[in-house]
Amino acid sequence: MHLPHFEITEPRTLDDALLVLSDHEDRIMIKAGGTALIPAMRLGLANPDRVLNISTISDMDKIDRHRDNCISIGANSSLFQVRQSSIIKENFPALVDAVKSISSPSLHHSSSIAGNICQDCRCIYYNQSLTWRALRSKCFKAAGKTCHAVSNGNKCSAVYRGDLAPVLISMSASVVLASFKGKREIPLSQFFKSNGIWPNTLGPAEILTEVVIPIPKSNLKVTFEKVRIRSSLDYAIATGAVSVTTDSEGTCTDCKIVLGALGPGPIESFEAEKIIVGTIPDLAICKRAAKEVINKIHPVANTESTPEHRIELAEFIVVRCLCKALGIGGGD
Ligand SMILES: Cc1cc2nc3c(=O)[nH]c(=O)nc-3n(C[C@H](O)[C@H](O)[C@H](O)COP(=O)(O)OP(=O)(O)OC[C@H]3O[C@@H](n4cnc5c(N)ncnc54)[C@H](O)[C@@H]3O)c2cc1C
Ligand code: SF4
Repeated sequence: MHLPHFEITEPRTLDDALLVLSDHEDRIMIKAGGTALIPAMRLGLANPDRVLNISTISDMDKIDRHRDNCISIGANSSLFQVRQSSIIKENFPALVDAVKSISSPSLHHSSSIAGNICQDCRCIYYNQSLTWRALRSKCFKAAGKTCHAVSNGNKCSAVYRGDLAPVLISMSASVVLASFKGKREIPLSQFFKSNGIWPNTLGPAEILTEVVIPIPKSNLKVTFEKVRIRSSLDYAIATGAVSVTTDSEGTCTDCKIVLGALGPGPIESFEAEKIIVGTIPDLAICKRAAKEVINKIHPVANTESTPEHRIELAEFIVVRCLCKALGIGGGD
C-alpha cells in the first residue's frame, strides 16, 4: 500500500504551524509521530493534500510542574518520555500502566501523547485496504449511507480505542487547544463527542498543545485495566480506569469510573460513581457499581470480540479497578 502524494510543511514554532493550518484548513492534517496517521493514509482512509508535521516544533515535548498543583505534558511528548518521566511515575503510576499497555515499546519512541488522544475511531469494516472496502458499499464513516456492523443502523458506531483518554479523564485532566485566536483549556471529558465518524471537538485550525493533570492528593488512588486479544500489539477490546478518594474512615468522597474501547468515545458512568461515593465500599458495592456501568455501554459487532463478551469484560474491569484502588480482595 503506497502513500499517496502530499505536500509536507515542517514548522519550527507553534505560531508558524497555526499560520499554515489556518491557511489550509480544508485539506491539511496534523502529523505528530505519524504512527496512526500514516497507516490511515496508506489505507486511503485519510487523504490530506498537505501534512503539517508538528514534530519539528521545539518546546512542545516538555513534562513540567510549571502550574500550581498541576503537571503539564507537552503535546509532542513521546509515550517513551511519559513512561520514563520521574514526575509522571511518582504522581500518575496508572498513566504509566496505560502507556505500557499501548502497542509495543518500539512504537513508544515515535508515538506522541496528543496523537494518542486525537486518534480516530476504528472499525473492522473500515480499517481495511481500498480493495477490501471496494467489495462493500460505502458506510457512514466513508460518507456512505449504511453501516455494515449494525443492520438498519442510522449512525456510525466506530470505536474510540485510545488508551490514555479514559485514565486521563479519571484523573480530571484537561487539554489546551491553540489557534490563531488564542488558547482555550477544556476538561478532556468535554473534548470527546462520542461520534464514530470523528471522535473529538478539535477545530480545523486548532492544535492540542498540552495535557494538564492536577497533582493528586495522597488519598486519591487511580487504577487502569485493559483487555486485548494479543498482549503484544493489539488495541483494547475493553479498557477502564477508576479514581477513588477516601477519607480517614475509609468513606469514599469522590469517584470516577471511565471506560474505553466500548463505544465512539470514553464513557463515564456517573450513576455507578454515585453508588460508590458516600459508602465504605466493599466487594458487593463494587459489583453493584459495575452492574450499573453496563447500562451505559452499547458495544456493537465491529471489533475482534463480540458485544456480549465486551460487556462482560467491562463489568469485570470495573470490579477489578475498584478493588485494586480500594485495596479490597476478591476483585479477580
Ligand atoms: C500497531 C499499532 C498498535 C497500536 N496500538 C494502540 C493501542 O493499543 N492503544 C492506543 O491507544 N493506541 C494504539 N495505537 C495508535 C497510535 O499509533 C498511538 O496511540 C500513538 O500514540 C499516536 O501518536 P502519533 O504521534 O503517532 O499520532 P499521529 O499518527 O501523528 O496522529 C494521530 C492523530 O492525531 C492528530 N494529532 C496528532 N497530534 C496532534 C496535536 N498536537 N493536535 C491535534 N491533533 C493531533 C493527527 O492529525 C491524527 O489524526 C497503535 C498504533 C499502531 C500502528
Ligand atoms: S460502525 Fe458502521 S458506519 Fe461506522 S465504520 Fe463501522 S461499518 Fe462504518
